Amino acid sequence: AFKSPADVLKSIEDNDIQEVIFSFTDIDGALHAINYESSMVNAKTFSDGVMFDGSSVNGWKAIDESDMALHPDPTTARLNLFCSVPTLTIICDITDPGTGKIYNRDPRGVAKRVEAFVKGTGVVDEVFVGPEPEFYVFDRAAYGVDQHSSFSNVGSSEWLNSDMLYERHSLSHYMEANGGYLATSPRDLGAEMRSKMMAALKSMDVIVEKHHHETAPGQHEIGIKYNTLVLAADDVQMLKDVVKNVAKSYGRSATFMPKPVQDQNGSGMHVHHSLWKNGKPIFAGERYAGLSQTCLWYIGGVMKHVKALNAFANPSTNSYRRLVPGFEAPVLVAYSSRNRSAACRIPCTTSPKGKRVEFRFPDAAANPYLANSAIVMAGMDGIINQIEPGEAMDMDLYKLPPTERNKIPHVCGSLREALDSLDNDRDFLKVGGVFDDDLIDAYIELKKEEVEWLEKSPTPGEFVKYYSV
Ligand code: GLN
Ligand code: MG
Ligand code: MG
Ligand code: MG
Repeated sequence: AFKSPADVLKSIEDNDIQEVIFSFTDIDGALHAINYESSMVNAKTFSDGVMFDGSSVNGWKAIDESDMALHPDPTTARLNLFCSVPTLTIICDITDPGTGKIYNRDPRGVAKRVEAFVKGTGVVDEVFVGPEPEFYVFDRAAYGVDQHSSFSNVGSSEWLNSDMLYERHSLSHYMEANGGYLATSPRDLGAEMRSKMMAALKSMDVIVEKHHHETAPGQHEIGIKYNTLVLAADDVQMLKDVVKNVAKSYGRSATFMPKPVQDQNGSGMHVHHSLWKNGKPIFAGERYAGLSQTCLWYIGGVMKHVKALNAFANPSTNSYRRLVPGFEAPVLVAYSSRNRSAACRIPCTTSPKGKRVEFRFPDAAANPYLANSAIVMAGMDGIINQIEPGEAMDMDLYKLPPTERNKIPHVCGSLREALDSLDNDRDFLKVGGVFDDDLIDAYIELKKEEVEWLEKSPTPGEFVKYYSV
C-alpha cells in the first residue's frame, strides 16, 4: 500500500503514528532498529537518510570512517500494531555518505544486486523464495556462560549433577513434555501463542499461510507465503522479531538456534526457490519430476557450490550439529522428488506454477538476504554454465550402506570447513559484482573469530563426558 515517502508521511498523519522504527540487518543477520519520534520524520529523512554509527555494528565500518546512513525503503513501511503506541516499521538500505552508494556490505543491498543481475541475464526476470523457519519455544531459557560452570541462570546446583546434565542437555526447559508433528491442543501448548504471532505478522503485511507444531517438543513452524528475494528476506526478519517478542509476552523464550536440544530435531529454514520469465514459471518441464532443464541446471549449480553456500546458509558452529543423519535434516548433497534426506527436494505439485525446488540445508541462524542471494548465484552459475546435477536419488539416503553413501558428496561438517570452502570457491558469487572480496573477507573474518572463541569454550557435552574424569 505504501509506494512513496509521501504515502508514508500521510499515513503518519492519518493513523496518529507516534513512533517510526527504522530497521536494518547486519551481515550476521541480526536485526537492528532506531525509533524516531514521528514528528521528526519528514521528506528529508527519505532523501538524506538517518545517520548512525557503522563502527558499532559487527563486521561493518572502522571507527575512523564510521558515519553511515539508513535509507528508508518506503515500500516496506507497515503499521506495527504490535507496539504499545501506534508505530510504523520501515526497512532501510544502508548507504555510505562518502560515496552516496549502497554500502557493499549491506546484506539487503546484496539481495538487490542479485535481483538486478538475474534480470540482466535475460534468462529470468523474477526469483521467488519461500522460507520455512522453524523454532523452539522454551518456558525458561537457561543459556549463557559464566566462569564457574558453562551455565548461568541454571536455577540450582542440581545442574552440576552429570545425570541431570545429560537429561537437560539443551540448557533449557521445555515448554511442554510432549507435542510432536502436527500435535493438537492441549498436547500442543503453543497453538494460541502461534495464533497471536500470526495476527501480529498479518498486521505487518507478512502473509502467513499456516502455523503448526513441529516434530520435537516445544518446536514450531509458521509458514509464510513466498515472495520476491528481497521481500522474502524482509519477511523472515519480521517473522523472527514477532516470534521472539510474542513468546516473550507469554513469559517464554523463542530460539531459532539450529540445534538447541540434544537428540531432538533441529530447526531448519528450508527455502523454496522458483524462477519466472515473462510471467511464466521456467522450472516446470518434461524432465525428472516434471522439471525443466533450466531447473536441473539450477540444482546442479547449488549442488556444485553447496559447501561454500553452507558458510551463509549454516553460519553457526551449532548449524553442524543439526546437519547429521536421522533428524530430517540433510547430510548428503543429492536431489530427489521424494525424499527429505536429500539437500534438494522437489515438492510434489500438479501445477506448473507451483514447480519449485526446496533446499533443505539452510537454517534460521542464516542471514536470509545473504543465504538466499548466495543460493541464487550458485543456481544461476548452474544455468549459465549448464551444470548437470547427475542422477536423482530416490532412496532413503540414510539407509544406504556406508560404502555407497560415502560416494555421495556431503555438506560441510563444521563452520570452519564451510568458511574455508567459501574462501576457495567464491567466484560464482562475484559475477555481476553481486558479492565482492571485501564483503566475503569481512564475513569470513567475523565468523572465524566466532569459531575460534567457541573452540576455546567448554560445552555442555563436555561436562557430560568429562565432568567425572
Ligand atoms: N526440523 C527438520 C530440519 O531440521 C525439518 C522437519 C520438517 O519440516 N519436516 O530441517
Ligand atoms: Mg514446512
Ligand atoms: Mg518444518
Ligand atoms: Mg520444508
